[in-house]
Amino acid sequence: MDKILLGSHVSMAGPDYYLGSVKEALKYGENVLMFYTGAPQNNKRTPIEKCKIEEGIALAKENGMELDKFVCHAPYMINLANSDSEKLKFSKDFLKSEIVRCVAFKCRYLVLHPGLHVHLGEDVGLNNIINGLNEVIEEVKDLDFIICIETMAGKGTELGTTFEQVKKIIDGVKYKEKIGVCLDTCHINDAGYIVDDIDCVINEFDRIIGLNLLKVIHLNDSKNPLGAHKDRHENFGFGEIGFDALIKYVYDERLKDIPKILETPYVEDKPPYKEEIEMIKKKEFNPSLKEIIASK
Ligand code: FE
Ligand code: FE
Ligand code: ZN
Repeated sequence: MDKILLGSHVSMAGPDYYLGSVKEALKYGENVLMFYTGAPQNNKRTPIEKCKIEEGIALAKENGMELDKFVCHAPYMINLANSDSEKLKFSKDFLKSEIVRCVAFKCRYLVLHPGLHVHLGEDVGLNNIINGLNEVIEEVKDLDFIICIETMAGKGTELGTTFEQVKKIIDGVKYKEKIGVCLDTCHINDAGYIVDDIDCVINEFDRIIGLNLLKVIHLNDSKNPLGAHKDRHENFGFGEIGFDALIKYVYDERLKDIPKILETPYVEDKPPYKEEIEMIKKKEFNPSLKEIIASK
C-alpha cells in the first residue's frame, strides 16, 4: 500500500487557531487531522476571520497533507433525538452554524454523534434525528459537506449503536449525497462487534449500510470488553481490542482511501499521537510506549 491516511484529533485554539492545528498534526507525522471548530461544551466561537484558515491550508499543502480528507467533529451538545422543542431548536441551529463553519475551513467531513433518545425510545429518537437532519440540510444544501453519522457505544440512551440504526437514519435523509458514516472501533467494540474479525465488520457494514458510505474511521482501543456499552477510549494496542486487531484497519486495501483518526487519550497530560503513529508505521506493538510518552 502506497500511502496510509493517518491523523489524530488536534486542538484549534488561539493564537494560531487552524494554522496551529496543522502545525500540531505535522509535528505528529500526520497527513490528515480532525478538529473541533471551538470548545465542544459551549457554543462560543472565534470569528472565522481570526482562525488563520488560509495560513493553515497553505502549510498543509506545502507539506503534502490530504486536505480533502480532513475531518471536523461536531460538538457533543447537539442532540437531534430530543423532542423538547427548545433544546431541539438549539441543536438544529448549532448544527447548521457548525456546517457553515466547517465549510469555511474548506473541510468536507463533519462527524456527528446521532443523539440520545433520553426517555423517548428508539423509534421516536431516530425519527427526531431524521427530521432534524432533513430540516438542517435543506437550509444549507448548496454547501459542500458530508455529515458523517458516528457509530456509538450504546452508553445510556445513545442511538446509532448498531449498523441497522445508522442505516435507518440514512434511509430517512432526503439528500443522500450529504450523508456518510464514521466508524469508531472503540464504539463498535463496546456495542458488541468483534473488531478483530475485520472481514465480518466490513461485510456487515457493506451489507447493511454500504461500504461506499464509510468516510471516516476513528481508530481507538477500548478500556472495556466487547459489548460493555461504555465508551472509554484506550491508547492504540493497550486496550481490550488490541494492537493486532486495530492494525488491520490501517492497512486494509478496502479502507485505504478512508482517513483514520486517533482519539486515544493523553498519557499524563502528554499527547500520545506521535509515538502511536510511529508504532503503527512500524507495525509492531511497543508495550513500553506509555512510559515513553509520559517521560517526554
Ligand atoms: Fe465522536
Ligand atoms: Fe469517535
Ligand atoms: Zn468515543
